[in-house]
Amino acid sequence: MSKKIQAIRGMNDLLPEQSPVWQYVESQVQALMKRYGYDEIRTPIVEQTALFSRSIGEVTDIVEKEMYSFDDRNGDSLSLRPEGTASTVRAAMEHGLLYNQTQRLWYKGPMFRHERPQKGRYRQFHQVGVEAYGLDGPDIDAEVILLSARLWKQLGLFEHVTLELNSLGSNAARAAYRDTLVAYFERHREVLDDDSLRRLGSNPLRILDSKNPAMADMLADAPQLMDHLDAESREHFDALTARLTAAGIDYVINPRLVRGLDYYCRTVFEWTTDALGSQGTVCAGGRYDGLVEQLGGKPTPAVGFAMGIERLILLLETLNIVPAAARRPLDVYVLGMDATTDGIAMALAERLRDEAADLGVQLHCGGGSFKSRIKKADRSGARIALLLGESEQQNAQVTVKFLRDEREQLVVDQQDLAATLSSLLSAATA
Ligand code: ATP
Ligand code: MG
Repeated sequence: MSKKIQAIRGMNDLLPEQSPVWQYVESQVQALMKRYGYDEIRTPIVEQTALFSRSIGEVTDIVEKEMYSFDDRNGDSLSLRPEGTASTVRAAMEHGLLYNQTQRLWYKGPMFRHERPQKGRYRQFHQVGVEAYGLDGPDIDAEVILLSARLWKQLGLFEHVTLELNSLGSNAARAAYRDTLVAYFERHREVLDDDSLRRLGSNPLRILDSKNPAMADMLADAPQLMDHLDAESREHFDALTARLTAAGIDYVINPRLVRGLDYYCRTVFEWTTDALGSQGTVCAGGRYDGLVEQLGGKPTPAVGFAMGIERLILLLETLNIVPAAARRPLDVYVLGMDATTDGIAMALAERLRDEAADLGVQLHCGGGSFKSRIKKADRSGARIALLLGESEQQNAQVTVKFLRDEREQLVVDQQDLAATLSSLLSAATA
């Protein structure tokens, strides 16, 4: 016997039992975006590798070691997208969406990174992201944060997440700070681990992100970006925090929050939780005013974020706050009592779907004895079974059997069935 082929490590199937939670989260997201006036954009999963190396940065973890890159049959280097911002910028530029106008966009979909798979960290994972273009004031930074906060509230997560904020300043201020920081690290070279020594030349700000306890004291005393901000970035940041405070959104300033992608400037933020161990960031973003120009467009201010859907769902499940409505079972299972009534059972199921568009109606298929039909009705998870036998057929009636409640079965006229079911089912929910 040949060996069974399995899914790729770190890439998950979403099984039927799980999909209702995903649909619940996705529908909340979609409705929310509409309420804020954000339009959806969908871009291909594969792009030219250069798009990501030029935007995310050559010396970032993502580009150095996490990308799924391959040569196309004609020799072009392509990559599975590791995130959504670069593709969104590419598409917006390519289709003239950034020309003399503002844009508020959102996307959702799978992203790919070759990381070590563990809880909350996968090789194919899903993000929802928003990107706003053409606006440079702190009001839009505040808006995207308020939008994310509203989602946490809608999902019942607001009490369980913390907003961490920092400002990376202008590119010039950051470059000056970088020199100060490198000088500081040079003085403490003996404390730096291998990873940090490697980053010292390429991406020293990322050293601030290190979780190595042996470096904790040295990092705590490191010069802080906040103290090296240019005046305009300082003002921008203060106006942002004022807006958040006015909106009742608490935050903590995390001077070591630098984010792992090169394109950020000024505002950076993360929503974190301590309920998911070390994979505690559920949403991360910031301002990236230089990216459009870096990819060949006109200078265009931009701000956005991406949230990890797997982590969001893990959090909902860990906290046990998936609403029952998200797992709404099937309402009705329709069955003929034997082969002679299978045909009218199908007709009745279709009629119900005509008359009651919001009911979940499953039809018994595959024949079998009466006993096995009832067993399948029960296993379907439906709350009510509708039985059709010869006498029901003759009297244009149907027998209503309650599968989940201690209740006598009823016989009702097919004529009134949709109305009867709707009142029976809503009574059972209450
Ligand atoms: P982390 O520090 O956890 O590696 P990151 O800084 O690499 O996150 P971003 O690139 O900013 O993350 O992506 C935004 C969000 O996408 C993260 O906050 C997280 O919720 C989610 N995410 C990122 N990488 C993964 C992954 N490999 N598996 C699942 N979710 C992920
Ligand atoms: Mg990462």
